[in-house]
Amino acid sequence: MAISLIYGPSGSGKTYRLVRTYILAGRYNLTAIVIKPRLYDARFNTREILYENDIKITENVYILGEDRIPQDVHYDFILVENTQFMSIPEIHTILDTYAVLSNNVVFYGTPQDYAGVPFPAVKYLLDNKNELLDVTEELTAKCYACKKPGATLTQRLINGVPATITPEIFIEPFVKHVPACEQCYTSPEEILGLTGGKTNE
Ligand SMILES: [Zn+2]
Repeated sequence: MAISLIYGPSGSGKTYRLVRTYILAGRYNLTAIVIKPRLYDARFNTREILYENDIKITENVYILGEDRIPQDVHYDFILVENTQFMSIPEIHTILDTYAVLSNNVVFYGTPQDYAGVPFPAVKYLLDNKNELLDVTEELTAKCYACKKPGATLTQRLINGVPATITPEIFIEPFVKHVPACEQCYTSPEEILGLTGGKTNE
């Protein structure tokens, strides 16, 4: 059994990698399932994985804590989407209950949010990688502003402008999460300073 974490900012290709692994597994007659976190916004609790607005995976997608994930089956791949929205106990549920059923468990996650605050579950995996993980791989992306490769941070844009701290909105059409390099990233606090304390809500 191998346990991996593939992590990087928004737009670094995590979902692409998950979808590609799922499709390749199917091509070689390997069994793969996807486990998603249960989000508080029910609109996003769909049992499908979307990539680039095309539905790519519509079967074998389970919501942790809501769906019965078959345990009498051997899996070649358990692919864990949006690990950053899981709790640490949920990470342990996967490691302790489901990982033994599978040859490979791959967690895909974003290390920190647009305000630079670490997501506990991904931080936990990275902090304990020697004990919990066999493989870690960091994905980077092209910075949305300077277009240079190597961006590791996530910038929230509202109507194309870096956002101050805003309520947790996921995929409203005017909100985007994009990769930013350390030079171009503007934190919500810096934006408040620049705008004299006005938010862009
Ligand atoms: Zn940049």
